Amino acid sequence: MGGCPVNVNSMRNVSIIGAGLVGCLAAIYLARRGYEVNIFESRSDSRAGCTDTGRSINLAMSCRGITALAEAGILSVLEKLMVPMRARAIHDENGRIKYQAFGRTHDEHINAIQRNDLNRLLLDEAGKFPSVHWHFDTTLLSLDVSKKTAHFRRRDGSEFLHAYRHVIGADGAASQVRDSLQRQGLIGASRTFFPHGYKEITIAGAASTHLAREHLHLWPRTSFLLLGNPNLDSSVTGSLFLPMDGQNSFADLDSEPRVRAFFEQAFPDVFPAMPDVAGDFLDHPTGRMSTVKSSPWYYDDQCLLIGDAAHGLIPFFGQGMNSGFEDCRILNELLDRHHDDWWQVMPAFYRLRKPDTDAVSEMSMANYHEIQTGILDEHFNLKKQLEQNLMRRYATRYVSKHVLVMFSNTPYAVALAHGRLQSKLLDSICRQAGRIEDVDWLRVDALMQEYDKELALL
Ligand code: FAD
Repeated sequence: MGGCPVNVNSMRNVSIIGAGLVGCLAAIYLARRGYEVNIFESRSDSRAGCTDTGRSINLAMSCRGITALAEAGILSVLEKLMVPMRARAIHDENGRIKYQAFGRTHDEHINAIQRNDLNRLLLDEAGKFPSVHWHFDTTLLSLDVSKKTAHFRRRDGSEFLHAYRHVIGADGAASQVRDSLQRQGLIGASRTFFPHGYKEITIAGAASTHLAREHLHLWPRTSFLLLGNPNLDSSVTGSLFLPMDGQNSFADLDSEPRVRAFFEQAFPDVFPAMPDVAGDFLDHPTGRMSTVKSSPWYYDDQCLLIGDAAHGLIPFFGQGMNSGFEDCRILNELLDRHHDDWWQVMPAFYRLRKPDTDAVSEMSMANYHEIQTGILDEHFNLKKQLEQNLMRRYATRYVSKHVLVMFSNTPYAVALAHGRLQSKLLDSICRQAGRIEDVDWLRVDALMQEYDKELALL
């Protein structure tokens, strides 16, 4: 086993495992602070031409992600990759479309961005710092905290030990850093798989012109869901969420005719715009989604978990990357506050982030139920309409949970607490009115007084 040719004697030296979205942004923040950063990634460098074909998945970037990129000084470079998404376009089985704005105004929107493009640009930006050293095709096998060494295997099969000063596990939901700490009895952790998998399906540009631009498209069906995110070239990247087993599942749809029949029947309005749906379905990998819980996320001043490695969540609120980017921003703030004393920073980071990431995990699960079935329900739609009305009438007093999550940096746990009160208020209004026209606004004024009082007690 060879030794690792990197210098970790410098006081400011961090090793990052994982050059995904969060690992790259963390490297940028740390390099800006003057750290020597070694970043180890099991895959090859995607800029050298190898991409994750069929698993690019288009992501929704919202306020938290944008704030973190801006504070790292790289927003202007990344902005050109983003397509605004101003509303949901909900397509039912009969081809009818309902629109629901995301924000309170036209300018309050989220943004679609291709994962591979984003990752490549983050690699480029991190690569501008001479103090960032890349180790691609290098997989972490384990950590030994007693010796402060990380054990790696290169693609050619050779193995080596790397002595680290601080190590950040940004190695995603299947984190080896987390597993290693757990195996040594230093943290508790669990990973729970969601019963649905996902698959990327191309929706072509020219043929898809009937799809409204600048929208997140949704085709919710009883047990599955298709999402469509807009791309810069006006094509749409579809993500199909389907059960792994049972009827109409990844296991069930195992031949070209069955796949084509399924899409034609389930998504008749968009099926003609899918150039090679059977090929996409049968060739693209099936991704899994999971919820990761761990506690704590650190060991001494040595190891820290961030992003999906610490708190992976299901993607139905579009907050996994956003919360991981927020981790980087907050870690940087804590390094400022504690003068780079990692003995203080690591526990402070965990104490601050854990309640918020637990909250966003809970909200993501609730949002899954909302977009899967709620969205087709009249009562649910009334509440959405009512909520838009409340935000107009009581602009400074009522800000919906969704707006707090997507368009502000309000801690997720606070947004969740607001959401619980809002749910109570909306239920109470809806008990009296079945249509927006029937709402008694004088009564709502009184209910709002109560809402204000309860909000003040949070
Ligand atoms: P990852 O992106 O998983 O990166 C981890 C990196 O570590 C990878 O490059 C991996 O190769 C590397 N690695 C792993 N193990 C090792 C090892 N042992 N040694 C070395 N390297 C290793 N989030 C949003 O905010 N908005 C969205 O709209 C959104 N949509 C999503 C849709 C889907 C279908 C899915 C699955 C996720 C979505 N997410 C979304 C979540 C988002 O993709 C993740 O939260 C984000 O990618 C987490 O970044 P990360 O860097 O922590 O982990």
